[in-house]
Amino acid sequence: MLITFLVLVFLNIYCSFSSQKLFDKSKETSMKEKAQLVASAVAEEDILNSDTAAGVIRGMDNLKVTRLIITDYAGQILYDSLADPAATGVYCLFPEVIQALEGNNVFTSRYYDGVIESQTATPILRYNTLSGCVYMMEYDSAQGQLIESMQRNNLIVSALLIVLLCLFSLFSSLTFSRRLRKIMVSMRIIREGDYTHKVEMGGQDELTVLGKEFNDLTSRLQESEERRRQFVSDASHELKTPLASIKLLADSILQNDMDIDTIREFVSDIGDEADRLNRMSCKLLSLTKVNADCRSDCEIVYVAPTIRRVVRMLSAIAENSDVTIYTDIVNDCSILILEDDLYQIIFNLVENGIKYNLPGGKLFLRLSRDGDNAVLEVRDTGAGIPENAIRHIFERFYRVDKARSRQSGGSGLGLAIVHDMVMRNRGHIRVESSVGENHGTVFTLEMPIFDVEDDEP
Ligand code: ADP
Repeated sequence: MLITFLVLVFLNIYCSFSSQKLFDKSKETSMKEKAQLVASAVAEEDILNSDTAAGVIRGMDNLKVTRLIITDYAGQILYDSLADPAATGVYCLFPEVIQALEGNNVFTSRYYDGVIESQTATPILRYNTLSGCVYMMEYDSAQGQLIESMQRNNLIVSALLIVLLCLFSLFSSLTFSRRLRKIMVSMRIIREGDYTHKVEMGGQDELTVLGKEFNDLTSRLQESEERRRQFVSDASHELKTPLASIKLLADSILQNDMDIDTIREFVSDIGDEADRLNRMSCKLLSLTKVNADCRSDCEIVYVAPTIRRVVRMLSAIAENSDVTIYTDIVNDCSILILEDDLYQIIFNLVENGIKYNLPGGKLFLRLSRDGDNAVLEVRDTGAGIPENAIRHIFERFYRVDKARSRQSGGSGLGLAIVHDMVMRNRGHIRVESSVGENHGTVFTLEMPIFDVEDDEP
């Protein structure tokens, strides 16, 4: 828009100048032709003096010039249409005359006070010898006034365009600052905690894009705020249950007359609940650790020994639950991870494979290389996970069968921790499960292989 205005102003000024130039050009041609005509008529005379010069002019049609001068080769005036005959013989020292006496055809034009003054001078050549010059001068007030009025009009149009330009700039800068203020007000609202607020920008410019980005950002803030609230409410709800049990058991001991065996049983229950609380707070702590970036502490870890360590740790529990563990492990898979994280991931998966298995069930652990990935498959023959629950399985505090999970000391945090850790280490985890006849669950973990040589410079 601004550029269009500038172009219009420029065009206006250019038109004004070019129209004057066009007029000059046509004037030059016509005056030069007239001067040439007079010069050739004079050249035909045998003798060049004031009488012959005046005679030639008398014999010609009205030339319609303001002044006509004919000089001899030295610049002495032989004929002057404006002066009386007494002026004849005076030297004419106009610059145009001097240049014509040097053999040049001259034309000059100037515009002043609404009049165009055009002058031309041409040499008179007789038998190829320079014998004088013809000088003509014209005042053209009609054309001058025309040009003057054109220039005046152009000036008015240009001034109008400039005023419009200023108004437009003022309007657009006011609109810009108004829209900018809108974004700033929205920022203040968001800062005060209203993440539902959206800024409406309209238009198609950079500020509109900024508004969209701003709305995206607030949506994300809103989502993360909702997740945080959900997490706090879930966590406090989960912590409330064992605390309520502890309070109930303690009150029962205080209020009832109990025998020592029952008191012992109640106190041991209080201990169990306290253990559960402890485990849960450890898991919550490890979740907060998962969210902190500590990739710099990572090391190259072989997966096989960690699997064996987990199996050793859990073999007693597997035996108690009548679950047999089978392993099929390759030894050359190494990945870049914190060893504690890898242990935690495998431990949680294997523990679940035992916990949610059936008596006499089996648990298969298979570690293989697949291209650039180490693939760990944890397959059990347990009851399986219903299809509608699979997509929630990695959410915090999610449990399929709450009663069974709580009974086995579950908190619903194990798989959330696994998922976060795997993601943080650029891995991938998926779950397949069936509840029907061939029931069971498979967790497949993929982590990028990091061979020992890769680390060498
Ligand atoms: P929890 O501490 O309750 O075990 P997890 O996050 O480890 O928490 O698991 C979430 C829920 O997923 C469990 O409560 C259980 O219902 C289900 N689940 C996890 N692993 C298995 C599995 N191998 N077989 C069947 N269900 C499972």
